[in-house]
Amino acid sequence: MNTILQDKTIVVMGVANNRSIAWGIAKSLHNAGANLILTYRQERSKQKLEKLLAKNEIKPKMVVACDVEDDDSIKQAFQEIGEQVGTIHGLVHSVAFANTDELQGEYAATSRDGYLTAQNISAYSLVAVTHEARKLMTEGGGIVTQTYLGSERVVPNYNVMGVAKAALEASVRYLAEDVGKDGVRVNAVSAGPIRTLSAKGVSGFNEKMSVIEEKAPLRRQVDHDQVGDATLFLLSDLARGVTGEVLHVDSGFHIMA
Ligand code: NDP
Repeated sequence: MNTILQDKTIVVMGVANNRSIAWGIAKSLHNAGANLILTYRQERSKQKLEKLLAKNEIKPKMVVACDVEDDDSIKQAFQEIGEQVGTIHGLVHSVAFANTDELQGEYAATSRDGYLTAQNISAYSLVAVTHEARKLMTEGGGIVTQTYLGSERVVPNYNVMGVAKAALEASVRYLAEDVGKDGVRVNAVSAGPIRTLSAKGVSGFNEKMSVIEEKAPLRRQVDHDQVGDATLFLLSDLARGVTGEVLHVDSGFHIMA
């Protein structure tokens, strides 16, 4: 336990189950004294989330529905948060989606619908939620999203999601400029592969994990706690001079040829 985020209220989007990266983040933020607001899309995720919170004796300020594909849902979620809680100091965006049939084979075969779906949910959503969240960030704060190396390099099978992550990282920079004048910082964590529900949809995921142990400078897997603590750092005052950045939490894999 520490007090780095004492009295800070942070919205965390994207806990589907105990393997979700957002759950690792929620635990790190809770251990640093933050008040949590959690959002979910599917009813199934809400039930899992509520069980996890109870099991870990975490009492959130709110649990709110938010489908990032739907502007009205986003507006309503942040309106409810504003009415019930008022000021927030941070937002964690840990949501993404692409059809599994687009996460295998050739990128050249990507359908128009598949491309737009991946961009919509995985990249545009950061723009839409930043637009609403900043209205509640009246004391400044931090926004952190989750990205992956497939944005910078061609990672087999990551395909349409790699292109969506490239858009997401570019959005981090443009958004950082827009909201910087209000004292809000926008950053991304680029995590190494972690076994989650979404990761299962990427063909050849196991090989992506094993190569980290073989080739990354630290020669060990990345876990939720490491991503949680790096996200905590970016949300906290310790990172007050950092914005528009992509911080790799991948045992150093990205520096290797
Ligand atoms: P999870 O499947 O656990 O989390 C994905 C989350 O996205 C779920 O909570 C899901 O909610 C949510 N989501 C999908 N569509 C929507 C939507 N329309 N509206 C609101 N929420 C939505 O997987 P991860 O924890 O792996 O993924 C979290 C983030 O981390 C993603 O951005 C992913 O790309 C990124 N990442 C993952 C890595 C990995 O190896 N796992 C590596 C690097 C980055 P629901 O289930 O309720 O639909």
